[in-house]
Amino acid sequence: MSRKPLIAGNWKMNKNHLEAIKLVQELAFSLTDKDFDKVEVAVLPPFTDLRSVQTLVDGDKLRIVYGGQDLSAHDGGAYTGEISGAMLGKLGCTFVAIGHSERRQYHAEDDALVNAKVQAAYRHSVTPILCVGEGLPVRQAGNQVEHTLAQVDGALKGVTAEQAKTIVIAYEPVWAIGTGEVATPDDAQEVCGAIRVRLAELYDTEVADAVRILYGGSVKSDNIAGIMAQPDVDGALVGGASLDPAEFVKICRF
Ligand code: PEP
Repeated sequence: MSRKPLIAGNWKMNKNHLEAIKLVQELAFSLTDKDFDKVEVAVLPPFTDLRSVQTLVDGDKLRIVYGGQDLSAHDGGAYTGEISGAMLGKLGCTFVAIGHSERRQYHAEDDALVNAKVQAAYRHSVTPILCVGEGLPVRQAGNQVEHTLAQVDGALKGVTAEQAKTIVIAYEPVWAIGTGEVATPDDAQEVCGAIRVRLAELYDTEVADAVRILYGGSVKSDNIAGIMAQPDVDGALVGGASLDPAEFVKICRF
């Protein structure tokens, strides 16, 4: 089974809509059809930039895809400040990140809410990039695999095999996010490999072989190659380094 690598840039709360246009234009000038034949490239801008990104992508027939950084578990109604899967779908979003550690930490998102958001994304044909991973104390206790698999189990409750086949799972050890502390390729493979085995247990090998599993946590152009060489790592979720177009392009060309 060959899985097309995915490099996704999580811009977090950075770039206003003018800056977003500039960044996407810079990516568009650098990335070629040859690049896009080898790797899928996604950007996850703030909600307020999505329309601008959509206009560029549609207008210039760019092969960059884009998505949201979160969505509501609800489809509409009296949920002030929330953005629905329907809204993301309408704006042409391919992906939505769900359960990012910053959402879990600052917005108290637990596995039940993450599961509800995964279901909401599927209701609107937006593909979840499900983020999982352990914090430092869990890693120090050596419980990273159990912890991360429990998050996967919780997020996938009620998700059918047909849906699960399309999900993207990003293993992001919390201690490596934005810290400059990157997991070793072996660390990344240990957990990504365990996630694939769990997918086979929860579903079957067809699903396990189809799902793209990304690594995220201080990915840069000088550490991406070793991570991508691992058999169960199919790409990267890139935070800080995705804000620098030259660096992000280098990562896409791992
Ligand atoms: C992220 O936010 O998902 C992330 C991996 O950030 P960084 O690359 O900056 O560690």
